[in-house]
Amino acid sequence: MTKTFTFPSTPAEAQLRKLAHERVLVLDGAMGTQIQTLGLSEEDFTGQGSGCACAHHSDHPQKGNNDLLILTQPDAIEEIHFSFAMAGADIVETNTFSSTSIAQADYGMEHAVHDLNATGACLARRAMDRATAIDGRPRFVAGALGPTNRTASLSPDVNDPGYRAVTFDDLRVAYGEQVRGLIAGKADLILIETIFDTLNAKAAIFACMEVFSETGQHLPLMISGTITDASGRTLSGQTPTAFWHSVMHARPFTVGLNCALGAAAMRPHLAELAGVATTLTCAYPNAGLPNAFGQYDEGPDETAAQIEGFARDGLVNIVGGCCGTTPDHIRAIAEAVAGFTPRATP
Ligand SMILES: [Zn+2]
Repeated sequence: MTKTFTFPSTPAEAQLRKLAHERVLVLDGAMGTQIQTLGLSEEDFTGQGSGCACAHHSDHPQKGNNDLLILTQPDAIEEIHFSFAMAGADIVETNTFSSTSIAQADYGMEHAVHDLNATGACLARRAMDRATAIDGRPRFVAGALGPTNRTASLSPDVNDPGYRAVTFDDLRVAYGEQVRGLIAGKADLILIETIFDTLNAKAAIFACMEVFSETGQHLPLMISGTITDASGRTLSGQTPTAFWHSVMHARPFTVGLNCALGAAAMRPHLAELAGVATTLTCAYPNAGLPNAFGQYDEGPDETAAQIEGFARDGLVNIVGGCCGTTPDHIRAIAEAVAGFTPRATP
């Protein structure tokens, strides 16, 4: 069955398109890096120490379940969103990268998924409204969908190549539940990010279309792939051009790349994508490559100089930061791209 979806613009989308025409827009930086600096304990994660004791109980330890902090340390998460907004981000991502029943199963928190997404979007919205009240600049909330920790097109078992740990339908249902929560919390956009397996992303896109049809509310989609190795392909084997052709049917607001590589290594793959994509492009690399301890050493000026090159060469419409990028990185990036004309869509 072929179904054609129409995309009436939401007021936020119309405003975003107008702004994106005028200048290179700025996305926020890494939530995880900011959470790490808080040095939170198991009691902080569950809210049993300081914070809001979570209404959703699980016997699993919760330390490391960053998304749960939406419910147990809401003020801290709102403050991180606010600091990115004040650093110059036009769009911030909700702290919901792992807020699907599939990813939360690791923590026994599948039943918290609706609250994580709805409250996650509310917190980001509140932080944006506070920032806008200070400087009058419009700001937007992107509901973040991560890839989950399972892949639909590859087997995790080398002895059983036909095996799949998750199906398209499992992913479709889980993403649908997530997107309903994000819409309930009033997200302006949906960002499907860090895509290493295009089939997972297609399930996320399909879920979005189903929920949009249900609610009659079509949010703009941002779709962001991850190039995982030097050959310039995603984990499921696609080049940037093939990736674009696999997702263009969704008519996304943006297509782009994030994570895995620093800006320097991302650049040729971004250039390829920018050459074929008939929509806006978005790039948010890591702060360089991780060191032996898994930390990112690239400073704000270094990252910003690379991203300035993306803007100077007309490769981007939206830029930001992934792993290791702080509010200082976002401030430097926003200043670096401020004077450049955004990429013209071919
Ligand atoms: Zn990253």
